[in-house]
This record gives sequence, C-alpha cells and structure tokens, in this order.
Amino acid sequence: MQKERLQKYAELIIKCGLNVQKGQEVIIRCGLDQPDFVAACVEECYKRGAERVKVEWSYMPVSKLHYNYRSLESLSEFTAVEKAEWERKVEKLTCLLWLDSDDPDGLNGTDSEKISKANQARFPFIKPFRDELENKYQWCIAAVPGKEWAKKIYPDLSEADAVEKLWEDILLCSRVDGDPVKAWEEHNANLAKRCKCLNDCRFDRLVYRSANGTDFTVGLNPKGIFMGGGEYALGSNIYYNPNIPSEEVFTTPMRGRAEGKVVSTKPLSYQGKLIENFWVRFENGKVVEVGAESNEELLKNMVSMDEGAAYLGEVALIAHNSPINNTGILFYNTLFDENASCHLALGRGFTNCLEGFENMTNDECEKAGVNSSMIHVDFMIGSADMSITGITADGREVPVFVNGNWAI
Ligand code: ZN
Repeated sequence: MQKERLQKYAELIIKCGLNVQKGQEVIIRCGLDQPDFVAACVEECYKRGAERVKVEWSYMPVSKLHYNYRSLESLSEFTAVEKAEWERKVEKLTCLLWLDSDDPDGLNGTDSEKISKANQARFPFIKPFRDELENKYQWCIAAVPGKEWAKKIYPDLSEADAVEKLWEDILLCSRVDGDPVKAWEEHNANLAKRCKCLNDCRFDRLVYRSANGTDFTVGLNPKGIFMGGGEYALGSNIYYNPNIPSEEVFTTPMRGRAEGKVVSTKPLSYQGKLIENFWVRFENGKVVEVGAESNEELLKNMVSMDEGAAYLGEVALIAHNSPINNTGILFYNTLFDENASCHLALGRGFTNCLEGFENMTNDECEKAGVNSSMIHVDFMIGSADMSITGITADGREVPVFVNGNWAI
C-alpha cells in the first residue's frame, strides 16, 4: 500500500478518531501485522503533542498458548501491576486506540468456558475503574489488515494480494481518499441530521420484521436519544470519533422491554471464534432461548456471562444500502459488519444516550433502564427485506425502514 495513503489514514485516526491533545497519554493496542503503520500512528500522536505513547503488542498464537497452558486460577488473577495501570488511566484519562487485525477465528481450539470464567473472575476488579472512566476519555477502534484475517475474506488470493485488497477495503470504508477530515465532518453532520429526525419522533418502541424469521419488538428508553458519529468526552469537551469507519445511529434501549425472535444475518466473531447462523429469543427484555449452527455453546456462554449479558445494551440502525454493505464483502469483523447492517448488542448499555446523563451517577442511569454488564457484543440482524416500524406512546405507527432502507 502506498505510503502517502497510509500516512493520511494514520493522521485521520489520530486527529479525527482519537483527537489527541497536547500533554495527553495514549495507549495503542495492536497485533504484529502492521508495525510500520503502528509507528506512523505513534509519530502522529507525538506530533500532536502527546506526552507518552505506549504500544501494547499482542500475537494471537501466543495468547492461545496462555489460554491453553495457564490454569484458570492464574488467568483469573488481577495483578498489582494491572491495578497500577488502571489507576494511571483514571488519573491521566489515557486515550486508547485499538488497531484491530485479529484473525476472526484465531482462538479456535481454546477452552471458551475457561476464558469466560477468567473474565468473570477479573471483572469485579476492573469494573470500578471502568465506571470511573466512562465517557471521560477519548478512544477509537480502527482496523489494519492481518494475514489470517485477509485470507479469511479472500481465500482465493495469495497472502500478499489478500492483504493489499483488505487495505483497499479498509481505506475505502474509512473515507481516507480525497480530504478525509472534511469527508468526516460532512459524514458526522449527516449522521447528526438522521439522529435529530429520529429523536423528534419520540418512539416508544420499534417493531422489526424480516422473511428470515425476525419478528421482534424492542422498547426504547423515554429519556433515550439516538447518537451517531463523533461524540464529546465528558468534562473536557474534546470531540472524537470512537469508530472508524462508522455508519450507524444507535441508542440504548429500555432494559426489560424486548419480545420475540431475531435471526442473525452475519457471523459473529466472539472470543476469537465464529458463531454462525444463530437466533435469539427474548421475553420481558431477557434472552430466554438461543440457537446456532456453529459454536452454540459459546453463544450460550456469552449470554450467561453475568445477569446483564442476557439483556440488550444497544439498538443500531444502518441502511442496507450503505457504503460498507455495498462493497458486498463479509468482513468477519464486527467493526465493519456492524456498520453494514442493523444490529443489536447484548450487555452493557450507553449511559451517554440518556438525556441529562452528565448529572447522573451510573446507578441512576441503571435505574433509568440502561443495562449493565461486563460484555457488550454487537450482532447483525439487518436484511434486504427488513421492515422497522416506530410506534409512539399514543399508538401512532411510522415506517422507519422499508425493504432494508430508511423510510423517514
Ligand atoms: Zn453499534
């Protein structure tokens, strides 16, 4: 890939994505796949005045060895070093960039139950720090091609060609060519218009139907608002874009109000394994039944991670006719696939989707219907024939999606 285009991409991520400010600390989490690109991002951070940039490299085959050889007790430990690192994040409001290049099923052959149990054991130690940081720091998820990931999408190409093709896809979906900063400003303005339109409707609930078997109603939060694109870090008012790319408008639904069945339309990569052709049934907001053609046990595991894992945390709307979906590519990666399809997320909701959240504690947000959980996992349900009808509290029905695309 041309150096100049990658340089523009790195600038976009650090300027529009993280919006790193003078004196800030940054952590970059990444694989070993694109070290030169990681270096370009580090340099951009420093050019913008970052005080300290720390790169946390990982390599899936090594992660796999840890999961396989270490005992549950060892994997569950929350060490003094980790505690000190979290304390520093809270003190410095460290920016976090995640450059995803993971193999979508690179952890096949690991014990999912062991990994889940270790995460469950560690969560009570991590939660207070995460609550403390919520909405206050800039973070961004973007992607770079990994060899295994690229070959998963393009099995017929050589490894080098597959990686090059995936670079093209990533740069196209991320609006890197031309003037990316301007493109993102326009894109954010369009998403904001869409949100305003939905927020003015004040829907009480959304009803989804598709020929694939989706027949589902989700209750929206009376104080909830739809958001999309960039957002402001609480306290500092720094505008940043948490996802590059991003096409969604989303809100946090009302905990306890979801009925019926949703059928997935894309595979889900979770804990390094693919859950495929699955469905989920809700009663009173809670998952009561699931089924999957592959990795059904993992899906069952996921919805029982904690009490909130069986409740919804996100409702996101994306037209079937969207730039990412129009590439026709199945990415096997949530950052891309979630932005190509209407989706829901199980687990933690978004407190900043509540009006007045700035003056509310986390407990108050939970009482107002925002779900709390250690997980937040998006899964895709949009289809070409999907209809979504918005229903207001006084029973007025408004078509929101017709044949997979926006109707308002
Ligand atoms: Zn989403």
